[in-house]
Order: sequence, then C-alpha cells, then structure tokens
Amino acid sequence: MAHHSTGQATAVQTDALVIGAGPVGLFQVFELGLLGISAQVVDSLPQAGGQCMALYADKPIYDIPGIARCTGRELTERLLAQIAPFKPAMHLGHIVNHLQRKPDGGFSIRTEQGLQWECKAVFIAAGVGAFSPKKLKLDGALAITVNPVQYQVQYPVDSSRPYAGQHVIILGDSEEALSSALALSQSTPAPASVSVLYRRDVFTAGPATIEQFRNAIRQGSIALHLGQATALKVENGRLIALQLMSNDGSELQLPCDALLSLQGLSPQLGPLADWGLAMERKQIQVDTEKFETSEPGIYAVGDINHYAGKQKLILCGFHEATLAAFAAAVRIRPQDNHALQYTTSSSLLQQRLGVR
Ligand SMILES: Cc1cc2nc3c(=O)[nH]c(=O)nc-3n(C[C@H](O)[C@H](O)[C@H](O)COP(=O)(O)OP(=O)(O)OC[C@H]3O[C@@H](n4cnc5c(N)ncnc54)[C@H](O)[C@@H]3O)c2cc1C
Repeated sequence: MAHHSTGQATAVQTDALVIGAGPVGLFQVFELGLLGISAQVVDSLPQAGGQCMALYADKPIYDIPGIARCTGRELTERLLAQIAPFKPAMHLGHIVNHLQRKPDGGFSIRTEQGLQWECKAVFIAAGVGAFSPKKLKLDGALAITVNPVQYQVQYPVDSSRPYAGQHVIILGDSEEALSSALALSQSTPAPASVSVLYRRDVFTAGPATIEQFRNAIRQGSIALHLGQATALKVENGRLIALQLMSNDGSELQLPCDALLSLQGLSPQLGPLADWGLAMERKQIQVDTEKFETSEPGIYAVGDINHYAGKQKLILCGFHEATLAAFAAAVRIRPQDNHALQYTTSSSLLQQRLGVR
C-alpha cells in the first residue's frame, strides 16, 4: 500500500473506522466499545443494517444465537440499541473510496462525498460491496437539472417535502416504493397525482402494504401503470413527463414533476478492490486469529472476508468482529492489559456499557 502525507486539516480523528453498517459492522462497534475503543461508522446506504435492511427487512431470521426469530429490521434495531452506549458517529450516505496508510502507521480515509478521517485501525465490514440504487438508463436523464430523479428516499418517503400539487411517479414494486406511494397519496397538502409504474401486477412489498396499495388504487388515490419507462421529457432542464410502453402495447405520456426511482439496490465492490489488499476473487483474505488483511491494522469481517472454512453467516461475522477487536486493542493500546473480562462481572465493562 502506498504511503503518503498530505496536510489534512479537516480530517476527523478517531481510534477506529468501521466501513459498513451491516450487522457485522454494527457488532464490531460493540466489541470495540467494550475494549474502550471508540469507532465511527460509514455506509453508502441512508440507513444502517446492510443486507438485513436493504434485502430482507421484513423477512424472518432464525439462526441468531439466543433469538429464535427476528426480522432483518428487528435485528438491526437490536444491534443499534446494543451499541447505543458507545454513541458511535454514523455517517450514512457516504461511499468510502480512498484508504491509505500514513507515515505514522495510521490510516487516512475519504469518502466520495468528501468526509475524511485519520484513524489507527480500519475495519472493513463491507459485505458484498457498497449498495447503491440502480440508476435509470433513459434518454434525457442527464439533461435534468431542476428536479433530478430521486434514487433514495427516507423510508417511507418524507412527505413533508414539497410534493404538494405535483405529479409524482414512483418506479418499483418494493416495500419502499409502495409505502412511499401510500405515504404521498395520504399527505397534505396533497400531490396532484401519485402514480406507480411497474412491469408486472405482482409486487415484492409486504402483504399488508400490498393490500393498502390495492385499496388506494380502487379508491383512485394512486394510479398503477403496468409497463416500462421508455423516455423522459425534459424542457429547460426540468423533467415534465415520463413516457412509457404499457404491457398492452400502447404508448403513454404521464405528466411528471417528481420521479422517484426505487428499483432496488446493486452492490458495487468498487474502490475496495484498489486498496492493495490481498484478495481472493471478490473477498479480502484474512487470517483466522486476528481477521487482519494483508495490511497490518486493517481488519476485514463479515461477508467481505475469505479464509478456509468461511461461511457467510451473521453469527460467524460476530465472532470475527470479536477477535478483530481484541487484536486491534493490542495494536492501538499496547500498554494496556487486554485480559478477557466478562460483562457479567467486570465493573470496567459495565461502566463502559453505562449500566453501573
Ligand atoms: C435474502 C437473504 C437472507 C439471509 N438470511 C440470513 C439468515 O437467515 N441468517 C444469516 O446468518 N445470514 C443471512 N443472510 C446473510 C446475511 O445477511 C449476511 O451474512 C450479512 O448481512 C453480512 O453482514 P455484513 O455486515 O458483513 O455485510 P452487509 O450486510 O452486506 O453490509 C455491508 C454494508 O457495507 C456497505 N459498504 C460496502 N462498501 C462500502 C463502501 N466502500 N463505502 C461505504 N459503505 C460500504 C454496504 O452498503 C452495506 O450496507 C441472508 C442474506 C440474504 C440476501
């Protein structure tokens, strides 16, 4: 890995930076916190939870030790509650694209959006890569400057945004897409119209949301169009209409002031592959003692790592995060005693957890 020195006056100093707020990144913060190491977390998504929130928020998980059944969302909420005592700064909506070793042995990290850190240890908990929304590949998309296509919304959409009087079109069939349509159709002051465009009359949103969605269609507060978007009509940088091909073969043009493209996420390994770390296909090679990469001080945990016998399971990631935290503690605070202590009986750990 290249060494460099730049005057980074704006870089935030932290002991540890965790790249990825999936279940393993979140538990990494917990294990570091128990050892007295403060961490900051960065994720490309607007919410924590990684695959659990992005891919199966409302589906059940049955193999988390001690929790017989919980959804992806519940697991995320429990992990966030568990790390709350350590008050980690969470930087959501940021893609880490730069990681370099500094001459003092620490690391300098930057996001595409311009955040910078300097830290002593890096934990890559990047799963299958940075999740980012699938982009619309339609003529005219690049010409829109006034009311750009929205790819990420608060969940569900923040209806306090000024959609009043606007023709809103939502692309997609996910929970996010249909509950955003519902939220907008019920918001006051109301939009001029709320339409959903999807290619089939079968949706991936949860059953309760689908039922409400179908009711709203019957009542006329949401219009459903089955077909594919074919072009965007843009005038003076403003999106004014969406052209579509209906499944019955007819072409249609819908007026459009706000276009929300909520057509799912795709993971991009992206910059991670360029950080000079030894890789095994699309995974980062680690040892099974410290879960350290080929670069001392950079650890990789969860789905992103590879070692003999690796299983991509959340509980395996929790174990990896635990050993990585102990290894990093020795590196960051070599002078301290790192003997194992139990949360049940250690007053120090209980102090750190804020329960004493
Ligand atoms: C449908 C489905 C069901 C599953 N069911 C189970 C189950 O029952 N039990 C089980 O144990 N496992 C299950 N899994 C697998 C489990 O979800 C993963 O093992 C787990 O999410 C891995 O956690 P992670 O924290 O390593 O990575 P992820 O959850 O993938 O999170 C990684 C995060 O890092 C972010 N990121 C990556 N690169 C960057 C970057 N450069 N900058 C900023 N952010 C970045 C990503 O956006 C993402 O949010 C399931 C997976 C799927 C898809």
